[in-house]
Amino acid sequence: MAQVSGKSFDAQILRGVLRYAKPYRKTFALAGALTVVLGLLSTARPLLIRDAVDAAVAAESAGDVHRILLVLFGLLLVEGLLQWSFYRMTNRLGQWVIRDLRVQLFDRLLRFKMSYFDRTPVGTLVTRTVSDAETIADIFAEGLLVIFGDFFKIAVLLLALFLTFDPTLVLVSLSVIPILFVATRWFQKSIQSSFTDVRNQVAALNAFVQERITGMALVHLFGREKAEAARFEAINATHRDANIRSIWSFSLFLPIIELLSAVSIGLAVWYGGYRAAAGDGVTLGDLTAMILFINMLYRPLRQLADRFNTLQMGMVASDRVLKLIDQKEELEPNGTHAAPLRGGIEFRNISFGYRPDEPVLRGFNLTILPGETLAVVGPTGAGKSTLIGLLLGHYEPQEGEIWVDGIPLREWDKASLRSQAALVMQDVFLFSGTVRDNVTLFEPLPDDVIWKAATSMGLAEFLQKLPGGLDFQVQERGNTLSTGQRQLLSFLRAFLLNPPVLVLDEATSNIDSETERWVQSATVALTRGRTSIVVAHRLATISHADRIAVLADGGLAECGTHAELQALNGRYAELVRASFTNAH
Ligand code: ADP
Repeated sequence: MAQVSGKSFDAQILRGVLRYAKPYRKTFALAGALTVVLGLLSTARPLLIRDAVDAAVAAESAGDVHRILLVLFGLLLVEGLLQWSFYRMTNRLGQWVIRDLRVQLFDRLLRFKMSYFDRTPVGTLVTRTVSDAETIADIFAEGLLVIFGDFFKIAVLLLALFLTFDPTLVLVSLSVIPILFVATRWFQKSIQSSFTDVRNQVAALNAFVQERITGMALVHLFGREKAEAARFEAINATHRDANIRSIWSFSLFLPIIELLSAVSIGLAVWYGGYRAAAGDGVTLGDLTAMILFINMLYRPLRQLADRFNTLQMGMVASDRVLKLIDQKEELEPNGTHAAPLRGGIEFRNISFGYRPDEPVLRGFNLTILPGETLAVVGPTGAGKSTLIGLLLGHYEPQEGEIWVDGIPLREWDKASLRSQAALVMQDVFLFSGTVRDNVTLFEPLPDDVIWKAATSMGLAEFLQKLPGGLDFQVQERGNTLSTGQRQLLSFLRAFLLNPPVLVLDEATSNIDSETERWVQSATVALTRGRTSIVVAHRLATISHADRIAVLADGGLAECGTHAELQALNGRYAELVRASFTNAH
């Protein structure tokens, strides 16, 4: 997992994020205008209170005081209303922006090459799409505009202070401000590093928990519960320490600010009182207003460090998310050729390795005719699944080219190609939902169509045996069904799609003889009349194939019918003897 860097304010990243706020620039501008109005309005309250106090002290007329209080009340209402709209606007803006960002990010993920996913941990991508995107919302909800508003307010308050009161009084009261700046700078630095630690530890926790949950069977199998619990405890302790460090900074910073603001007020009262006593025209109202002004001034100052951190966190997240979105070189290449598929496939001189220096296939050639069923066999690691990955365009060969219906694979529109090919993998993916949802992929197909298909595949009995039939609830990832049963469902799914090309990776796991029977009849029905490439593990499947390709040592060792290859008495005959004698 990538570490969160302590990257500071970066205009380029900010521009990148602001790009996403463009469609909402009206709201953005309106919220900006609101902060200005709010900043200006904030000066009115202390001044009105000053007049009210002075009027009350002078006791010229109670009417004056009442009038001022009424205006004050109205002002409070207006301020409250504006605050509410500002808060609503900025938060909505944040949510809009991250919705757009997330959609774009996910859209990118969908179009990345498979090799990208081989290299990138799932946890990282989940973090990017979910929590990093969330952090970006804070740039709008709590960052940019709020910081701008705070600065503006500080400037307006200072201006109002100097314009309203005697400059010496103001200067004396605010003489501790430099200490505040030093404290804020220290706080910002310390909190930044502990926040960075916290985030990294959260990422570590996520990754750890996710991996252990996925691999729980392994954890149990090797009796690693205690050891894993201890490791988890260690990561948790680091996370706790980082959190405590940030709390420590807060616990020091907040009292310092309180102290400084109290000192400021004390200075104002002391010096103001002294001036009043000297008959300098400083009134009680002035002092009250002064105290209010100072309080108002310290509020944004106190929050500024925190806000900068929020902004910074948002920037770090933006940097990571934008980098992912801009990763164009990872996008799957796509062509434009779209046509009905006949199903002629040709591997021409293919060389490929997941790492270029470790080739899996070397100068591989194989032609599959339209409508033919080809079984692919070979020892584990020979490259059978790799062949399928290449054909599906998940990976690109380093040398050579795959031709489909006489057109190079890369010139095909991948969506068109994939919509015409059904894929049944060993590790069948099922959604949580009913059997019906899973075989129709949520298309509204009538039940009798499904039953008819099942019957012609010899799977009606299998479906009837499931409690509830088509309404049987498949749990997440199909955990309620055995591997064989899951594959049967995906056979049915493929059959209903009725594509011209079928790619089937037969399940290797042991299945009971009843399921075995269903698998066989369904495989025969499924491969009939379409180009089928079957990574085969069962003799029954292989003997039904038109031709058999034997993969070994990065190339095509033998190719022919069952009888031909048996007669050859080479690798195929050896494989048959070794793997299938026990099974049948
Ligand atoms: P088979 O399906 O015949 O058992 P594979 O095509 O799965 O063989 O694997 C061929 C070789 O490629 C093996 O050495 C395997 O370790 C390697 N391999 C398979 N998938 C990947 C991958 N995603 N990344 C790196 N190496 C891989």
